[in-house]
Amino acid sequence: MDRFPTLEAELRAQPQKWLVTGAAGFIGSHLVDTLLQLGQGVVGLDDFSTGRRSNLARVLGRPGVDPARFRLIEGDLRDRDACARACDGVDRVLHQAALGSVPRSIEQPLLSLAVNVDGFVNIALAAVAAGVKGFSYASSSSVFGDSERLPKREGEEGRVLSPYAASKRMDEVAAESFATAYQLPAVGLRYFNVVGPRQDPDGVYAAVVPRWLATLADGKAPIIFGDGLTSRDFCPVENVVRANLLAATAGPAAWGRAVNVGLGGRTTLLDLYRILRDGMAARGAPCAGLEPTFEAFRKGDVRHSLADVSLAQELLGWAPSVGLDDGLGRAMDAFVAGEV
Ligand code: NAD
Repeated sequence: MDRFPTLEAELRAQPQKWLVTGAAGFIGSHLVDTLLQLGQGVVGLDDFSTGRRSNLARVLGRPGVDPARFRLIEGDLRDRDACARACDGVDRVLHQAALGSVPRSIEQPLLSLAVNVDGFVNIALAAVAAGVKGFSYASSSSVFGDSERLPKREGEEGRVLSPYAASKRMDEVAAESFATAYQLPAVGLRYFNVVGPRQDPDGVYAAVVPRWLATLADGKAPIIFGDGLTSRDFCPVENVVRANLLAATAGPAAWGRAVNVGLGGRTTLLDLYRILRDGMAARGAPCAGLEPTFEAFRKGDVRHSLADVSLAQELLGWAPSVGLDDGLGRAMDAFVAGEV
């Protein structure tokens, strides 16, 4: 059963105050967007290390959105005072802020662990002190590590392959202990590759979809690491937004647990490439028939990924509602409209 329509009606009838960490980022700004559309009060915490002010400006400028319902705290998760200020008086926390990217964590393990683990502990303990009623946080499918079993099921994790994956596993363990010791209503969401509008295409740590969109828009050939048969469960961001709202309002059975959030479908990089190339060509980009360039596999990347999403359905009442074609279509439409 999909609990989201009921939740949406409840929230509209009785608005609450939410904290979104990483509010200026890709997923965070979609959360702020949906919460404001639902008439909620929102506090955003961000240090703009990878997030962008333009993401927030776009969301706050939407018709029907009251920007006075949003308050930004510019601060760092590693600063406990900033975390305490951010949690003060909020009902529910959606914790997204972290340094993403497996390659970044291999190059900068101290930084990744400080932000993703110390920062997690800071915000979680600030949430405990503030007595919040709900706390969802971004984990990652990378916690499955070298397990080759498909689909990936919670409880069947392998050895982690990068400091990034380790940081997310550590967060899950910390959350489990805080749920038991302090009744923190924490629910972890193991995102599989999230796609949608406003994903940052720039920089060496950019995710595959926005990087390829930018390359194709220029009529250049994107790079595929490996043979192109590596596969991922690409999940439209709208599904991730709903999972967060449901997780932060879930009952005690879900507290201390971490669940998969994907589509439950698998797409190879080559198939993804063809969808994006043909979609961008149809939207006027000079990339019709362009072939990709292949380079060596990247260290720390897993070969295949596919989510079993039954636990999220059972514990949260969540079901993906936007499919991949729609999700990629929206990402391409936004990209060509300059919403990046
Ligand atoms: P993003 O980089 O767009 O957003 C992260 C946000 O956190 C940014 O706005 C950044 O400025 C902020 N931030 C980083 N360090 C901070 C700090 N020390 N203090 C305060 N703010 C800080 O990334 P995203 O794709 O939106 O990812 C959001 C979350 O989802 C992350 O936890 C990420 O690890 C997780 N995740 C994302 C994906 C994906 O496919 N995008 C997959 C798995 C997990």
